[in-house]
Formats: sequence, structure tokens, C-alpha cells
Amino acid sequence: MRWNETEYAGWGRVQTAHGEIARPERVSSLEAILSEGSVPAMGKRRSYNDACLNSGGRAIDMTRLDRIISFDADKGVLEAEAGITIGSLARIFAPLGWLPKIMPGTGFATLGGAIAQDVHGKNHQVSGSFGQHVLSVTLLTSGKRVIATPSRNKALFKATMGGVGQTGVILSAKIQMKPCPGEMVMVTERRAEGWDEFLSMLDTSTATYSVGWIDTTARGDALGRGTLEEGELAAGNVLKHKGTLSVPINAPGFALSAPVVRAFNSAYYHKVPVKGRTSVKPLDEFFFPLDKIRNWNRLYGKRGFYQFQTVVPTAQAPALREMLKQIAGSSLFSPLAVLKRMGPGRAGHLSFPMEGYSLAVDIPNRRGAQALVSELERATVAAGGRIYLAKDALASGDAVKAMYPEQGEWAEIVNKADPEHALETDMTRRLNLRSTT
Ligand SMILES: Cc1cc2nc3c(=O)[nH]c(=O)nc-3n(C[C@H](O)[C@H](O)[C@H](O)COP(=O)(O)OP(=O)(O)OC[C@H]3O[C@@H](n4cnc5c(N)ncnc54)[C@H](O)[C@@H]3O)c2cc1C
Repeated sequence: MRWNETEYAGWGRVQTAHGEIARPERVSSLEAILSEGSVPAMGKRRSYNDACLNSGGRAIDMTRLDRIISFDADKGVLEAEAGITIGSLARIFAPLGWLPKIMPGTGFATLGGAIAQDVHGKNHQVSGSFGQHVLSVTLLTSGKRVIATPSRNKALFKATMGGVGQTGVILSAKIQMKPCPGEMVMVTERRAEGWDEFLSMLDTSTATYSVGWIDTTARGDALGRGTLEEGELAAGNVLKHKGTLSVPINAPGFALSAPVVRAFNSAYYHKVPVKGRTSVKPLDEFFFPLDKIRNWNRLYGKRGFYQFQTVVPTAQAPALREMLKQIAGSSLFSPLAVLKRMGPGRAGHLSFPMEGYSLAVDIPNRRGAQALVSELERATVAAGGRIYLAKDALASGDAVKAMYPEQGEWAEIVNKADPEHALETDMTRRLNLRSTT
């Protein structure tokens, strides 16, 4: 197998790594590599941080291992190799009447990456997290194939869901899909004029899918204003998928300067009429709106950006409001900010979700960004919430352990599966995530 020495990065482009990467196309090639010792795997590197980086070491790019192994069209049970993307599954199976139960905000996440971060979608409050719909997973761990299910190798299965790739390379998985009437979504958009109204709209929404865009530049009475999108799967086919745009080069610093973001956000907010509006959109436009613009992460320029995603318990909503105030006051805002209601569903020890509200914001990597993220992280701990391991680039190990009380139990299972610590990544080392003390 050829190893290519290369420089690579997480999606936020703040953290980079230099190392060797192999892209096996066949399971036999992957097995040959792993027979010489374990190597961490990565998918499409849509985690914003260092979760899939292995500086100075080797990593396996799983994206060519993307075959469908079997599909039971009566039960909607799919088995596929881990490198297939969630977007491909949606495109292939929606016309046949089936959809992955959970779809994150990018269709570029692979099946392996979706399991390893136990991702959530716009229906978390209704359907839980990705790992809750995994029926079995085949791992290559310490040179052996191991099948884990919710009832067989139970502990290993739980540690794999949201286990950031530390139990072994996920070779393939079997998932339960959900029936869907077509390739369209009926979308209703409504404005929320401020924070309290936004929360009450999220709380009373009965939609299957719901997601809020929040204007992080708004202050005073308008603090927390935004728009809520609610969606239901609908019949109809997409005759021709729209092409994608691309950001060809790193944007200059002023592209997302504070005045530009303020103007953009105001226009975006007012685009939704006061009385709201309803439209029918293709699935990918609703579920993966940013995927239309290839390399949109270059809009933040060559210094990249941080994404901060937090979830706080329902009763701690005022803490989230304070965080929003801090962001609005910092001028380190961007147009990308998402407010979601989350349910309790989670599949693994390190899964992010908790019942409450989640806020995700992009923060350009400018002066003051690290201090702001650290303050938001402190506020999260104080509120009894947690930050997301697919996004965080700056937290300390102690803070993360405080947010994830099952981390010690997880580390014990993982350390048995990978006693040489060969699967560690830059993130697990930064957070000392595998320590049992
Ligand atoms: C625009 C955008 C929107 C997003 N929206 C959401 C959202 O709504 N909800 C949400 O939960 N997340 C969201 N994310 C985050 C994204 O879904 C996760 O980071 C996901 O893990 C990315 O998948 P990937 O294949 O790129 O994995 P990578 O980022 O390459 O890797 C992620 C982790 O999985 C491990 N891994 C990957 N493949 C394997 C494998 N085969 N075997 C073992 N370990 C493996 C890696 O080691 C790493 O720890 C979003 C990201 C972007 C860029």
C-alpha cells in the first residue's frame, strides 16, 4: 500500500497535521495494513478540529471503501462500508423510499464518521442520535475482525458509538433506515423576533425536523432573533440536482468582517416574511444547505475558524442567552449560527447530546477568538452542559472530563481494545482522553 506524506487539516483549518496517509480501495488492502499494527481512520474530515488528525504518524483515509454490502428493501436495513457518505445514502435510497434516520448538517460525513461522533440531525428531539439506529458494526481492532451489536460485545459497541475511532477501524455497519415518501421536504420558515419567542417556538414545535438560524450580531431587544425552519418529508422527485458553487481561494480578511456580517444577517433575517412562508425543497437543500458551496471554509481566510457548539440543560437556557450576548459583544461573529432543541437520545459514553438547547457558532480565528471560546467553555461547564468533540479545538482535558462523566468507563474499554494506544489522534492526546484517572 502506498503511503503519501501530506499536510492535512480539520474543517476549521486552524489545526493541521503532517503525516502519512493511505487510501485503500479494498478491504484486503486495509486488512494488510492493519495486520502490521493499528492506525487511526478518518472519513471526509468534516470534523472541525483535530479529531481525525495524527501529527507525525499515519492515518487511513476510508473514503474509497464506500460500497453497499446489502439492503433489505422490506425492512429498510442497510449494510455498507464505512467510507460511504450520508449524502450518497440519501441520494441513492430516497428514490427507493428509504432515508438514513439521522442526517447531520453535511452530507459529506461518512458512515464511519457519523458513528464515531454519534452525530445528531434536525430531528434529534424526535429520533435521537445516529448510533441509536446502528444495528451492528464490524471493527478491525488489534488485527482482528470483531462484530459488535447492542447485545453482542455490548460494551465495545457502546464505546464505539461516539468513540472517536478509538475502539478500532470501523470497516462497515448495518443501520436501520426510515421510510420516506420521496426526495422532497415541505419546509415552513418563521421569524422569531427575540430570544424568548425563539425558545417558545422551539419548545412548541411539533415538526419532525426543526432547526433555528440565529442572528449573532443582534443585541438589546433583538438579541436572539432568528428564523426557525420546520420540515416534513414529502413526495416528489428531483429531476436534476443543482450544481455546486465553489470558493476557489482563501477569502480576504474583510470578506467576513463585522459590518459585512451585520449587513448579511439583517438581509437574511428579513428574507423570511413576517407572516412566514412554506416551500417544497429537495432533501439535500434542506438537510445539507452548506454543501452547495464547495470549500466554503475558505471564506474565513487562511487562518481558518473555530466552531463552538454547546448544549445546556433546558433549565439553563438563560446561560445560553448570556453566551449569545458575549458573542454579540465580541464582534467575532459570523453568519453561521444554529440553535436547536435537543432530546435526551445518545448512544455512547462520549456522545454529545443532552436534553436542552444547543448553540453552534463559527468564530473566525482572529484576535480574541481563543479567549472567547474559553469563556464560552467555562460558561458551559458552569451550566452543567457540554461541548461537542467534533467541533472543539481548544478545551482542556479536565473540562471535557467534567462534561463527560462516563469518560473513565469509556477509556477502560478502549484501552483494552487498543492496548498499544496506536489509534490515538491529536485530539485524544490533547485532551488526554484515554486516561482512566
Ligand atoms: C457543514 C457541517 C455541518 C455539520 N452538521 C452537523 C450536525 O448537524 N450534527 C452533527 O452531529 N455533526 C455535524 N457536523 C459534524 C460532522 O457530522 C462530524 O464531524 C462527522 O464525524 C464528520 O464525518 P467524517 O466522515 O468527515 O469524519 P472525520 O471528521 O474524518 O472523522 C471524525 C472522527 O471519526 C473517526 N472516524 C472516521 N471514520 C472512521 C472509521 N471508518 N473508523 C473509525 N473511526 C473513524 C475519526 O478518527 C475521527 O475521530 C457538521 C460538519 C460540517 C462541516
